[in-house]
Amino acid sequence: MKAYHNNRFETNGRVALTFDDGPVENTVKILEVLEKYDVKASFFCIGKNIEKHPEIFKMILEQGHFVGNHTYSHTRKMGFLSTEKIIKEIETCEEVCQRVGGVKPSTFRPPFGIINPKIQMALKKTGHKVIGWNVRSYDAIIHSENMILKRIIKKVKPGDVILLHDTRQNSIEILEQLLLFLKSNNYHPVRVDNLFKIDAYS
Ligand SMILES: [Zn+2]
Repeated sequence: MKAYHNNRFETNGRVALTFDDGPVENTVKILEVLEKYDVKASFFCIGKNIEKHPEIFKMILEQGHFVGNHTYSHTRKMGFLSTEKIIKEIETCEEVCQRVGGVKPSTFRPPFGIINPKIQMALKKTGHKVIGWNVRSYDAIIHSENMILKRIIKKVKPGDVILLHDTRQNSIEILEQLLLFLKSNNYHPVRVDNLFKIDAYS
């Protein structure tokens, strides 16, 4: 199983902004901010949410962003599932991606960042590459936008993968401030497949 968390060899200031758990209504506003700053990002989508918001999923793809597999149901029991059930979660999400957007993501991000032997076994079978992160915003836990932003800014360096959630209302404000910071400090946000030189879809 190949896993990518950041690119330590990056020298050109490229970083990757990643958004988990969509697509949801809020994703549309995130897409607007990304377009305003002409930035491409990566979205790890939940199959169930793609079914609920197929038009938003298509919008993500049409606007040139990257999508990856984030399971079908994003169950809290992820750490307790059998290998078989995990494979089913991954494959069902993949089917939805194909049906709705015509893409077959070659990357996977495990819900809650959990990697255990059963998940490893499942990934060996499905062949997905794991995209992790190394800058966590804690946007799902901390509610102050300023504090979230400060945490990210303090930590960020070239080659980093930043974790955000498109399900969080405050991610819009954080994103705009973060993009301004990155721009004025010579960072260049790119898609994860560009940062790691891998194929987005198979
Ligand atoms: Zn998630």
